[in-house]
Amino acid sequence: MPEALVHLAPLLLKWFDSHQRNLPWRESRDPYRIWISEVMLQQTVAATVVPFFERFTKRFPNVKSLAGADTDEVLHLWQGLGYYRRARMLHQAARQLVSLGYENLPDDPKVVSELPGLGRYTTNAILSQAFERPVPILEANTFRLLARLFGLLDDPRAKPSEAWLWEAAQSILPNDRPGDFNQALMELGSQICSVNSPSCLICPIHAMCVTNLAGLQSTIPNTTPKAAPTPINELCVAMENEKGEWLVLRRGLEGRWARMWEFPRVQILEKESAQDAASRAAKELVGFTIQNPRKQTELRHAVTRFKVTLELWTAKTIETRPKLDPARHSEFLWLKPDKFTTLATATPQRKLMAWVLANLS
Ligand code: SF4
Repeated sequence: MPEALVHLAPLLLKWFDSHQRNLPWRESRDPYRIWISEVMLQQTVAATVVPFFERFTKRFPNVKSLAGADTDEVLHLWQGLGYYRRARMLHQAARQLVSLGYENLPDDPKVVSELPGLGRYTTNAILSQAFERPVPILEANTFRLLARLFGLLDDPRAKPSEAWLWEAAQSILPNDRPGDFNQALMELGSQICSVNSPSCLICPIHAMCVTNLAGLQSTIPNTTPKAAPTPINELCVAMENEKGEWLVLRRGLEGRWARMWEFPRVQILEKESAQDAASRAAKELVGFTIQNPRKQTELRHAVTRFKVTLELWTAKTIETRPKLDPARHSEFLWLKPDKFTTLATATPQRKLMAWVLANLS
């Protein structure tokens, strides 16, 4: 450890003891609860995660209950958190643990790191917080915090920098309370060392922070600007039968939003009118020919590097038996709108279904 950082751990732990937020997964050292929280916290801020965590752990309080759950129920409880692959991996991992004879995540780096969906960061977060193993972590907040602490001028996300930061994180990790120390790094990164306006005056480590001493807060971390999102236009066609039921499809096992329910959805092609795309969606996805589809509403959302405009079109149909494309969808249902909430759906689809319920039923 660099000489200048010998007081880092005591300072940081003292600050953490008096400033940490009261978060439900900090109430115990149960590896299962730490695991669930760490997976939920990927891509999502703590304040958003809290109610999801409480609902999820109330319904699935341990590995066994999660392993025995139906995938639909797991996805349903994840609804609104996004990145549903995380939920599917979590479920698979619970089943893997049970099949190996474990009732909880064990204090064994090999077993934990080989669970589906667990990378180096999540594995180390669980092992350090639950079992006090002195293993480092590196995630969004600590990338930034450590880059600033050490005055790293290169892009911290570049491969050589990342390898260097893992070593740096290991070098400052104390043997005493490594789990709390890792949490303190993340807490300081999220609460004090923010992206655009770090609060250096009240930062407990300001006297040893190279970036602060050099006044380089606006240039470190030196991250490559993200490319502007690509706009795309998509469309859903919601079809209603003579009984007032609407056709919903369940996506297959692969790809984004796997196993989630949706109205038939296509991307609107270049030079294609939205009305033609609605007819094409009905034909391609379920084999129906529809007359006079009507645009009802539209919404915007972001998915990875795409900025999506999603239109909702509706049509009446007398057809009853959709012919699904098995590469895209595995099941269908005809449902009254008041039953839409029983389905596991991604946020954009949930909003469209809520719109149909409020306006067309
Ligand atoms: S002194 Fe400022 S830049 Fe350095 S770690 Fe603290 S908040 Fe971040």
